[in-house]
Amino acid sequence: MVELHRLRVKWMGELEKAGVYAPAFELCEIIEHATGLDRAHQLAFDAALTHAQITAVEALLAIRCTGKPLQYILGKWEFYGLDFYVGEGVLIPRADTETLVEFGLEQLKGIAAPRVADLCSGSGCIAIALAKNLPASQVTAAELSDAAYGYLTRNIALNEAGNVAPLKMDVLAEGSPRMLEASGGGAGIACFDLIVSNPPYVRTAELQGLQREVQYEPMMALDGTASGLYFYREITRLYKNSLKKGGWLAYEVGDDQSHDVQKILQQNGFANIATKKDLGDFERVVAGMRP
Ligand code: GLN
Repeated sequence: MVELHRLRVKWMGELEKAGVYAPAFELCEIIEHATGLDRAHQLAFDAALTHAQITAVEALLAIRCTGKPLQYILGKWEFYGLDFYVGEGVLIPRADTETLVEFGLEQLKGIAAPRVADLCSGSGCIAIALAKNLPASQVTAAELSDAAYGYLTRNIALNEAGNVAPLKMDVLAEGSPRMLEASGGGAGIACFDLIVSNPPYVRTAELQGLQREVQYEPMMALDGTASGLYFYREITRLYKNSLKKGGWLAYEVGDDQSHDVQKILQQNGFANIATKKDLGDFERVVAGMRP
């Protein structure tokens, strides 16, 4: 057995050298994942690890030091108080995105059995968080990528979200609004009270400059074309008539995109344009109501 406090000094140094932003937090998570020792047991004054446990921790640390995100190493991550499977091929749920969930829940207050769609659903974190907080809702979660769709269906099962229906679909195809409506009330029926989306929105030229960890995430979930706005333009045009009158279209947007996305919604006839800030004080949600 080796005392943990001694190992911790060495391991913290390795993570710091590798440029890990929050080494103390990450080390604690990695030790727990490798050994089963939770935070309280790690902090006990006599905490110690066996050689097998040390080997297990060091194997994970070596992977983490290459830049692979902690979330992919753990295989699970929390979003809106729920657990989600994550791994290569699916975007990691971000705390910022909880702002979109909060906005959606505010808009749906007072609607008895709302119909909701989540476009570019990825892990399903938005769709599932909405569905679990609105047990009488019916949520359709649309996703194109094979890898992400696998996580989406597993996350629906993990969270026992029987009111989320996964739909494998390219949201930008011209026929897709009809497919989405068919999952809600029937093709051609404007049935949705809320459509949410956190689409790819990073400008292509900015992809290379993203953090090393983000480079492990699927570019398909990040690349918003040269302007970063392509998905907002297309989704707004294609799905505005899938909303009920009085229904809301709500997007997550990038740090500097609020103004441009508000304009897209206005140009498409949306009313009551609204924004909601995230914890970092960025306008993270932009939304409009179908009049
Ligand atoms: N928030 C993500 C990032 O900047 C981008 C997510 C997205 O494109 N929808 O890494």
